[in-house]
Amino acid sequence: MNHMLDSIKSLARQYAADIVQTRRHLHAHPELSFHERNTARFVADQLKAIGITPQEGVADTGLVALIEGRKSYSSSASSRVVGLRADMDALPIHEANNVPYKSTVDGVMHACGHDAHTASLLGVARILNVLRDQFDGTVKLVFQPGEEKAPGGASLMIKEGVLQNPAPVSMIGQHVAPNIPVGKIGFREGMYMASTDELYLTVRGKGGHAAMPDNLVDPVLIASHIIVALQQVISRNRPPASPSVLSFGRFIADGVTNVIPNEVTIQGTFRCMNEEWRAEGKRRMVKLAEGIAEAMGGSCEFEIVHGYPFLQNHPELTRRLRAQAVDYMGAENVVNLDLWMAGEDFAFYSQVVDSCFYRLGTRNEARGITSGVHTPTFDIDEAALETGAGLMSWLAVQELQTV
Ligand SMILES: [Zn+2]
Ligand SMILES: [Zn+2]
Repeated sequence: MNHMLDSIKSLARQYAADIVQTRRHLHAHPELSFHERNTARFVADQLKAIGITPQEGVADTGLVALIEGRKSYSSSASSRVVGLRADMDALPIHEANNVPYKSTVDGVMHACGHDAHTASLLGVARILNVLRDQFDGTVKLVFQPGEEKAPGGASLMIKEGVLQNPAPVSMIGQHVAPNIPVGKIGFREGMYMASTDELYLTVRGKGGHAAMPDNLVDPVLIASHIIVALQQVISRNRPPASPSVLSFGRFIADGVTNVIPNEVTIQGTFRCMNEEWRAEGKRRMVKLAEGIAEAMGGSCEFEIVHGYPFLQNHPELTRRLRAQAVDYMGAENVVNLDLWMAGEDFAFYSQVVDSCFYRLGTRNEARGITSGVHTPTFDIDEAALETGAGLMSWLAVQELQTV
């Protein structure tokens, strides 16, 4: 039997109840993106209680902590650094669950499972802190603010040097998955999640009596042409191997049956998995929309809020971690993930350093735990937390030993 694997599994089991309590505390006290002050203080206190002094105030409410292995007590020991990331922020959603750990903050809820990620990483800290004499290298714990809100806490923490001093050779992150049964884990090599850009268009014309369109410039018709034409950028210019989505969820033409308005506002989202195409697609969309509006006698103001890049799981790293997960969980509990067109700011790490973002199954149909993330009834099967802490500890230690 593998001694390290057994040690980690038994520590994860030993701490499981505490990790559940930690998650419940965080769940009951959610804080919005970039306002995670009490959460950060709580995380700092938990770390200090086991003798780890974190660097606080990274990107304001983020924390970074190091666990240095000391198996060899020599300078020739592994100097590899592996980064583990948990996000800490909650969402502006009013919780509809009736559970003892229900959110105590009106209109704020851990509806994306970031409480589970933070509790798991605190569990990892405890496990690896106990096992320090049994591995070499350094584990960098990254507690990150603001995953849910542009510009993304990951981008700010990278700017503040989280990927330096010491520089991790790889970053590993996990996310709860309400579509994967508890006890299972999911991996995907290569492109996994999408870039996210927000599109805001204002189409201007000249409104007036709908009976006399020949005297007007109809922004409703212009905007309609633009919506249809922009889909052709996706169908005609997209590289065939790059998944892309263009969706418009808002189209406001505030006239009535016999009044054509002066302007129409449109909002949408553009998502893809290729940074060159992402830039090219946006450039083409702006040109096309402006050109159509101008040709029809109106104008189009096209604003883009540039969001997260696409998330690329480094193939070799992901293959290695998947194999280690099979050792930890059994092959029958490690599943392959489909592409997911949602965004995730862990993608910023994946653009700089070898990274892997995997999913932790939290679904339990028998107990009715099936709601999707970002819904008021989202919850997790907390049995997942023992895996959330144990597996991540195991993956980190194995990566430190990779040469
Ligand atoms: Zn989310
Ligand atoms: Zn999330």
